[in-house]
Amino acid sequence: IKIKITEIPIPVGFAPAFEGERVRKDEMFAEFGGGRTTAWELVRKRDLSEVEDHKIEVIGPDIDTLGPDGGKLPLAIIVDVAGKNMEEDFEPVMERRIHYFVNYIEGVMHIGQRDIAWVRISKSAYEAGFRLKHIGEVLYAKMLDEFGNIADKVQVTIITDKEQVEKLLNEVARPKYEARDARLAGLTDESVDTFYSCLLCQSFAPAHVCIVTPERLGLCGAVSWLDAKATYELNPTGPCQPIVKGECLDEVKGSWESINKRVAEQSHGATTKVNIYTIMEDPMTSCGCFECICGIMPEANGVIIVNREYHGMTPLGMTFGELASTTGGGVQTPGFMGHGRQFITSKKFLYADGGLKRVVWMPKELKEALKDKLIERGKEMGIENFYDMIADEEVGTDPDSVVEFLTKVGHPALSMDPMF
Ligand code: SF4
Ligand code: ZN
Repeated sequence: IKIKITEIPIPVGFAPAFEGERVRKDEMFAEFGGGRTTAWELVRKRDLSEVEDHKIEVIGPDIDTLGPDGGKLPLAIIVDVAGKNMEEDFEPVMERRIHYFVNYIEGVMHIGQRDIAWVRISKSAYEAGFRLKHIGEVLYAKMLDEFGNIADKVQVTIITDKEQVEKLLNEVARPKYEARDARLAGLTDESVDTFYSCLLCQSFAPAHVCIVTPERLGLCGAVSWLDAKATYELNPTGPCQPIVKGECLDEVKGSWESINKRVAEQSHGATTKVNIYTIMEDPMTSCGCFECICGIMPEANGVIIVNREYHGMTPLGMTFGELASTTGGGVQTPGFMGHGRQFITSKKFLYADGGLKRVVWMPKELKEALKDKLIERGKEMGIENFYDMIADEEVGTDPDSVVEFLTKVGHPALSMDPMF
């Protein structure tokens, strides 16, 4: 018999209504990740014998050791799930829910996923007695509540010990993330007959519909085509629904009758046409949780990409936050689009607009994180040193120094067809 947990033993409120709540710097007591410390999260399938139900363990200093003004700590959240019906394919689906469940806590903010997670705990939550073990209580209760049909036992380990957070990231979490990505790598949009729509973000962007394909993951970076498929298998009436591709209207722009129909239906008529391979004409809408934004830089005849963790200026004269406020909210903004990090090196990225060759600038951290794939894709495009041709903040954040650099290195975008 499964017991439905309704009361979660934490000293602050818990409700989906708290999802949109931000914890600003001056209200913040503790911070994890967000480019300031290492923070990651992982859901793992384990054997029944390896999981002690409702065990919640905190390894390392809790937030009350930070002193009266608070501070930052590294963080690892590991949720171990055991159950007769549990499958490895379900791990990333459950892992994405960490984002929602943690955001439902009053005074706690969660952004990102995997090893780019970012968590803030407010002063008022801290003063109310909120501690790290309460994140464990929430995840324990909600995982059983929403995935009771597959999870028989759940245990949560929360680590703030720097050495262990780093060690387990390299030994346990990253190999898992990489294995998941590798399973997807062999699939192309052409090789499947079904795409998926995802509506998980409609709670705060009511007209937003993500179209998820093998070569284009959701813009949060956390929902791949395999994840959408598993979500549908777990819950056939849930947020991810299959779209049988059917007739293609335009293979280059990525236009399908079936996609337009689905988007029109699920956006309640707000958007009636979406081309999934271009940012110039009817691009996909952006909710608010995109990992990156790409946007046209007219002076360079290309696009820049900026990731959420980068706090500086971009050559468009806007920061990530400023770009996000004009791009997000579930509307189409031609020339600008939110997207996942992994999408950048997909062959379908800007496919109708000239592809990866259009990318002229991105923050150094993002560039480094994608280095191997950028080099590989550069070679595929016949440009041996494409990686080195992409400008970053060290080259400059004003259009003139970026264009000067692009000219010097002979960046391909400068001689491509005009974007407009
Ligand atoms: Fe789903 Fe898209 Fe939201 Fe990701 S960004 S959870 S794919 S709707
Ligand atoms: Zn979203």
